[in-house]
Amino acid sequence: MKMTAPAPVGLLAELTHRCPLGCPYCSNPLALEGRDGELTTDEWKRVFSEAAALGVLQVHLSGGEPLSRRDLTEIVSHCASLGLYTNLITSGIGMNGKLAKALAYAGLDHVQLSIQDADAASADKIAGYAGAFAKKREVAALITAEGFPLTVNAVIHRANATRAGAMLDMAVALGARRVEIAHVQYYGWAVPNRGQLMPSRAAAEAAVAEVERKKHELAGTIVVDHVVPDYHARLPKACMSGWGRRTLNITPQGKALPCHAAETIEHLTFWNVRDKSLADIWFESPAFNAYRGTAWMNETCRTCERRDIDHGGCRCQALALAGDAAATDPVCHKSPHHARLAEILASDMETASAPYHYRRVPARSLA
Ligand code: SF4
Ligand code: SF4
Repeated sequence: MKMTAPAPVGLLAELTHRCPLGCPYCSNPLALEGRDGELTTDEWKRVFSEAAALGVLQVHLSGGEPLSRRDLTEIVSHCASLGLYTNLITSGIGMNGKLAKALAYAGLDHVQLSIQDADAASADKIAGYAGAFAKKREVAALITAEGFPLTVNAVIHRANATRAGAMLDMAVALGARRVEIAHVQYYGWAVPNRGQLMPSRAAAEAAVAEVERKKHELAGTIVVDHVVPDYHARLPKACMSGWGRRTLNITPQGKALPCHAAETIEHLTFWNVRDKSLADIWFESPAFNAYRGTAWMNETCRTCERRDIDHGGCRCQALALAGDAAATDPVCHKSPHHARLAEILASDMETASAPYHYRRVPARSLA
């Protein structure tokens, strides 16, 4: 085996794409993988065993909604037996007191609970699920009663930007120790909903300022991780901390991806954990090696002092906005496509009041 990169530290397992909610900014792909063909319990156990042997320290059990998997406690127990730190990323729908106890007994380490808004009616509308807001309050109480450290995840967009600070207060009220509050990233379902989700520049700047103000106000009470909006920035984020550098994603049917949106880069072929070992995929697969290091970069990024800080930004965004996955991320002010962002912002205002395209798995897959 040829060592071409350090071992990964994190693995995000999309245990299923089934989810009762329909968030219009969901990062899952538009072509959702149905229940038929999902990795079995034994296949997931093998993946986690291989991950631990490879050097992975943390696994993020995600989806879709991971509580839709009836074998979740068995999977958690297996990961715990391997010494992996386990983080459950959930909408909360499907959680109850018995399951929370079972997950604690199985060795689950941490829970991340998503909220859609601090206003109940708006939250339920964004989730496309009546009663989601009330259920999340109940679930937060169950989680903290079991002693799990709780992180609240909140996504900022046009419909809730004026309540960014209120969502931080809500996270405190729910008993969270940490909150991840991020502006929508335009992948997956957020692309067809971009006009409905994109706040104006003024609204985005006001939300950023409010979160930063509250972050200082709440210091010592809750840790606030704040991800600022891409389309209004001059420098790109270090997407995935660099392609194939620290983490990998596994889809419900076993495809290994360097990031959750990587399948939008259609010329790449993603190896499947059913056919290859995780070590082979990480070190040897062409897709994981495609944008590692700096050799693939164009002159603008390769000669830039930030090339080892942001790794040239996001490959999927470069493809979506510049038509070339190896281009400088157009969020960067040095990109010749940077002006395209202003054009998109202006054109998106025209579809701002259109209804959401809710993310839905085909009904027959929800059973
Ligand atoms: S973002 Fe919403 S729809 Fe997507 S998996 Fe999470 S809870 Fe479900
Ligand atoms: S030129 Fe490339 S490396 Fe430099 S800041 Fe822009 S995206 Fe990052």
